[in-house]
Amino acid sequence: MTTITDNLTAVRARIERAARSAGRAAEGIRLVAVSKQQPVSAILQAVAAGQRNFGENYLQEAEPKLAELGTEDLTWHFIGTLQSNKTRPVAEHFDWVHTLDRYKIARRLSEHRPHHATPLQVCIQVKLVEEPRKGGVALAELASLAEQVVQLPGLRLRGLMCIPPEEEDAAASRAHFHRLRETLEQLGERGFELDTLSMGMSGDLEAAIAEGATIVRIGTAIFGPRAAAAPRTA
Ligand SMILES: *Cc1c(COP(=O)(O)O)cnc(C)c1O
Repeated sequence: MTTITDNLTAVRARIERAARSAGRAAEGIRLVAVSKQQPVSAILQAVAAGQRNFGENYLQEAEPKLAELGTEDLTWHFIGTLQSNKTRPVAEHFDWVHTLDRYKIARRLSEHRPHHATPLQVCIQVKLVEEPRKGGVALAELASLAEQVVQLPGLRLRGLMCIPPEEEDAAASRAHFHRLRETLEQLGERGFELDTLSMGMSGDLEAAIAEGATIVRIGTAIFGPRAAAAPRTA
């Protein structure tokens, strides 16, 4: 039986290999362990194996986990759909939000970020293809959203995030990752100082790293399959 420790070692090795073949330093790639629908005991095993960055999708599920595990030594990433009535707990307890796609939510996150805390680190989620009910800002609206987000004192805009359509293979995902990198570069040419590309999951992290990912979000390759029923209510 493979353990979470073994899986983490294997994922880190995949990241190392992918970085090396892209001529990049693996230290420049942050591994976020996506612990949605996984119990606290699984997260604790990952912590024991040295993992410090964790990603959660559902606020209702995440809140008790954060309360139990603490936010001092761990870095928590919110990677799920954000509702505007749920911005306060996210702004109070998380370090990063990867899924920003609307000004209204950005403004509320900034307002709710505690004054003593460092700004909330945010990525704008970009919708590279039109998919119903998928989050993300359209490319045509990205620059104006970025202009607004950089004005907000409680947020620090770090970069962009994408989730390629599920049915695609790694080669097709790579084309999306390539476009996201080009989009980040275009924002850089317009004067935005961005350093983060959040892209790549269990099935396509190599393609993402080849295209410049600085954060990969890995769930099943670390924790195994998720519990069947997703708590969709958060
Ligand atoms: C679930 C999820 C992941 C992790 O997916 P795996 O395929 O299990 O690695 C990454 N990013 C987001 C936004 C997710 O919702």
